[in-house]
Amino acid sequence: MNCQGVLREISDYIDGELELSIKQELERHLEHCEDCKMVVDQTRLTVDVFCDSKPVELPGEVKSRLHDALRRKLNEKALRRPS
Ligand SMILES: [Zn+2]
Repeated sequence: MNCQGVLREISDYIDGELELSIKQELERHLEHCEDCKMVVDQTRLTVDVFCDSKPVELPGEVKSRLHDALRRKLNEKALRRPS
């Protein structure tokens, strides 16, 4: 899984709704990607604040803010490492 994949699955991951195989892939990615780890941690914190750690859909505003942050990070990376 790459960073885009994590971005796509993040809300299901935090809600605990991912298939086991996808969840394991995502966690393997987090082990070596600080950016995605940060986004997952931030999202978890936000969810805890909003809903007292009950599984819940992220508020749309929070979701888009996180997605924007990650997208900016991905763009920075692409600029630093042109393929
Ligand atoms: Zn990543």
